[in-house]
Amino acid sequence: MCSSIEQELDALRAQSNLRTLPLLKHDGRMVVADGKRMLNLSSNDYLGLASDLRLRTAFLHTLTPDTFIPSSSSSRLLTGNFPVYGELEALLAQLFGAEAALLFNSGYHANTGILPAVADAQTLILADKLVHASMIDGIRLSAARCIRYRHNDMKQLERLLQEYHNRYRQIIVVTESVFSMDGDEADLPTLVGLKHTYNNVWLYVDEAHAFGVRGKNGLGCAEEHDCICDIDFLVGTFGKAAASTGAYLVCKHVIKAYLVNRMRTLIFTTALPPVNIAWTRFVVAQLPGMSQRRAHLTHISRLLREAVGQAGYGCPGSSHIVPMIVGASNRTLQQAAQLQQQGFYVSAVRPPTVPEGTSRIRFSLTAAVTTEEVEQLIRCLPRVG
Ligand SMILES: *Cc1c(COP(=O)(O)O)cnc(C)c1O
Repeated sequence: MCSSIEQELDALRAQSNLRTLPLLKHDGRMVVADGKRMLNLSSNDYLGLASDLRLRTAFLHTLTPDTFIPSSSSSRLLTGNFPVYGELEALLAQLFGAEAALLFNSGYHANTGILPAVADAQTLILADKLVHASMIDGIRLSAARCIRYRHNDMKQLERLLQEYHNRYRQIIVVTESVFSMDGDEADLPTLVGLKHTYNNVWLYVDEAHAFGVRGKNGLGCAEEHDCICDIDFLVGTFGKAAASTGAYLVCKHVIKAYLVNRMRTLIFTTALPPVNIAWTRFVVAQLPGMSQRRAHLTHISRLLREAVGQAGYGCPGSSHIVPMIVGASNRTLQQAAQLQQQGFYVSAVRPPTVPEGTSRIRFSLTAAVTTEEVEQLIRCLPRVG
């Protein structure tokens, strides 16, 4: 019975696409692997907050054994709804200037729960070709029909909306704002314009990589483009720039009330530990004041992106996620190993995470990386050819 599984693993190994769990130790901004200390360029700690000891220390001072509550011991619909949940939701609604916010255990829970709850058989989902696996899984769990449009192809999306808007009760357009693997961005103003062309189109935007990083107050690309209120489902995670865990949806009251009744990944799971929510609230309250970290991140991202392009690689995008598209998986693995030798902890991103033939090194910059370190990295970039 296991032999077919073993064969499959062998095939992955032969294609240089086998994955294993890396053994790592963390030391602030650095990681130690195989006895080597390297600058961590693979983390999603975009503002450098997870590696910030002062922030953690300040938070610990707010706790007592009474308020350090390590488990909610239940779903929020039973007895797990500690007051801190509502407090964080109120803070988010206020920051976003929105009617309501709803918390989830993770971005994965959010994306696999919201779509199946709201999309029925009379719904058409139009999803960008490159949306995150969690949205794909949410779409699969829903009863809706789904069509994927070419990545960021607004003309194709416009044609699909024209063709289908009166054949379905509702259409949900699903996208990320900053895309995980290419680090490029959705055209939010055009998406909002298209949505408003019809009265049965909803917009679903995942800001996983933009929350904390983009916008004046760090609320994401929707804040930057001043279109928070135009997005029906504005989703983000606390697992990345907010240095915590969990996720949020910013939405209307009626949608929140509906999800509390229908969303299986909210109802049938133990709510996150209250101490965790308290930490998230502690961090989120400080996000608006972190524009210096955001500006530094923008600066070093531009330096690296330009250098990757000049070294001859395809380098789409415009954000702090800087891909260096190498092509073949084995060459990408070699280059990752080489950069690790030089003290930069980067990992090779390979199929099926990215399309065949587009294996890449994905530099994930954080505000804790200095300009000097980026300049050093640029000197180490292997040239194409
Ligand atoms: C990381 C990520 C998620 C998952 O969020 P978690 O909180 O880590 O589960 C969802 N969507 C996108 C686009 C992501 O990059």
